[in-house]
Amino acid sequence: MRRSAVVAVVTASLALGGGAGAAAWGTQQRQAADGRHDAAVARVDAARGAARDDHEARTALVATADVARATDLLDDARGALDAAVAQARQTLDDSAGQVGDDDAPRGALAAQLEAAEQVASSASPARARALTADVAGAEQAVRDAVAAEQARVAAAQAAARAARGRAAPSAAPDPGRGATSARCTTTYSGPSFYTSVPTEGGDGSNGRLPASALTAVSWTADSRGTPFYLRSDAAAALERLNAAFRAALGHDLALDLTYRDLDTQVAMRAALGSVAAVPGTSSHGTGLAIDVPELPCDYGWDSAARAWLVAHGPAYGWVSPAWARQAGSNPEYWHYEYRG
Ligand SMILES: [Zn+2]
Repeated sequence: MRRSAVVAVVTASLALGGGAGAAAWGTQQRQAADGRHDAAVARVDAARGAARDDHEARTALVATADVARATDLLDDARGALDAAVAQARQTLDDSAGQVGDDDAPRGALAAQLEAAEQVASSASPARARALTADVAGAEQAVRDAVAAEQARVAAAQAAARAARGRAAPSAAPDPGRGATSARCTTTYSGPSFYTSVPTEGGDGSNGRLPASALTAVSWTADSRGTPFYLRSDAAAALERLNAAFRAALGHDLALDLTYRDLDTQVAMRAALGSVAAVPGTSSHGTGLAIDVPELPCDYGWDSAARAWLVAHGPAYGWVSPAWARQAGSNPEYWHYEYRG
């Protein structure tokens, strides 16, 4: 563009130097000026067109990204709500007849669930998150009521024993599966989470492991009958570990949770906060972690089972990670990981 303006000026200069008449010079100058004007107009039009196209392209790009982000947020929030509702529904069923005379917490949870289920499919992300928190809160109240009732029954039994003048039974740990006394109840009081089945169409990423990557352990399943899946090499190593554990302790290793899919991890994080791993980072999502039951007498810090697992687990590739140790950053006596 700049070049044509220069040519026009040179043309005008030549016309001057050539001694042409004033009329001819004027015509040439006008033609040159007209040319410059037309070129300038064309440049402005082109620039305007480019700016408009650019603006439209940017606007379209931003709008597409916004929609994708909003859709992701909505899916995450509704997914967490669905998981919280399913889990609270289970707690409601399980707690029937377990809360003593005061059934109000269960009534409140039932009402909360009904409200959540009515709007679950149409809730905005913020509303879905608020409902998730409400459901989790109501569920926790039911769990607290169940725990209070259990404590009341245990105290009443102890009082009855004392009244009969008999010594209370020994609190010696009984490592048998499912054998728990009132003094050896679970240390977990949060909402229930269950082990996961392989993820259909899973891409192999954390929490999305397909059936082809996983193997169920042979000797046990969870309370709902779901097999305990682990990455196949970790499962094979745990089979060998369990054979040695059983030989040493007289019973199989009990499991509470192994593979956990991403949806469950999202729901756990929503319900438990920072004690649950950030979704997509849990070793349960890679099928390389087990949780044994949170029963302190059976598997707690000072239990024979833990002593055996810490001493002999590494020979089978299974370890108690440093962060989960008693002096670690997030003590979890029930959590072990496969390191191969
Ligand atoms: Zn764990």
